[in-house]
Amino acid sequence: MRNDPFYHQPFDFQLYTEKLYTLPARCPGMHLFSAGESVLGKPLWCLFAGDPGCAPVLLAGGTHGSEWITSMLLTLFAETLADTAASGGSIAGIRADSVLQHHSLILLPCLNPDGVEIAIHGPTAAGDRSGSVQRMMEEHPGAVWQANVRGVDLNHNFDAGWEVLRELEQRSGICVPGPTRFGGPCPFSEPETAAVRSLCGCHNFRQLFSFHAQGEEIYWRYGSRTPGRGLLIARILAASSDYTVCDPTGTAAHGGMKDWFIQQTGRPGFTIEVGKGQNPLPLQQLESIWERLQELMMLSVLV
Ligand SMILES: [Zn+2]
Repeated sequence: MRNDPFYHQPFDFQLYTEKLYTLPARCPGMHLFSAGESVLGKPLWCLFAGDPGCAPVLLAGGTHGSEWITSMLLTLFAETLADTAASGGSIAGIRADSVLQHHSLILLPCLNPDGVEIAIHGPTAAGDRSGSVQRMMEEHPGAVWQANVRGVDLNHNFDAGWEVLRELEQRSGICVPGPTRFGGPCPFSEPETAAVRSLCGCHNFRQLFSFHAQGEEIYWRYGSRTPGRGLLIARILAASSDYTVCDPTGTAAHGGMKDWFIQQTGRPGFTIEVGKGQNPLPLQQLESIWERLQELMMLSVLV
């Protein structure tokens, strides 16, 4: 990590893609595929690792533009897992190769590459949509960019309490596309969220972990299908990381990836809010977040 330019600047999609291309050759059984494309046509890269005979877990990041540190964290996890498994070493005291012999995972480090680039580089990163992004930014001066390029907040666009969420949004004065918290014209209106739905349809995920920033918190509950095991796992992850187990409130309480996953499958789903401070979290936090969460990430595959 120390000598690698990718980890020493805000998330860069080109360097990210180049790095992901190198990983399968470094770790037997790992492969790279795309779950779909963003609105601007960027691949939604996924890495599979482990035993194809086991039901995988899904770890996703980069859902919100300004939370690109989660994309870097999951890339760092993927790279460390690949190299450590290949060398027979351990992460947080857990043998990486034996984890991959008996489990499997899919990493989707950056679900919202267009929004990440807008958050880092401004409207010019939006290509032929830069004019509309510029207007949305001008209508919300000072707002941090979380949405995709169409001004839809992807974590408000999943089909879980979406109508309730729309009412909450409207009561908060959020009725049109913008930098944050607009849930879109209908659930799964965006190619990025539709790609997650398809991915979940193709893979029988045991569990889902959706990484966001910030707060050092773990959310595990959504509605009546939440399995009791969800709280147990949240407590294990919290004990490992010293994060806090929480329940969401307000407009964060519906429409999210983990909400939809729990409602759809009745299996454990989690939102992990990494780091502490104001988004975008400074790049300098990446190493300390990684140090604190590497055991949690290994456990997310094991539990
Ligand atoms: Zn978020």
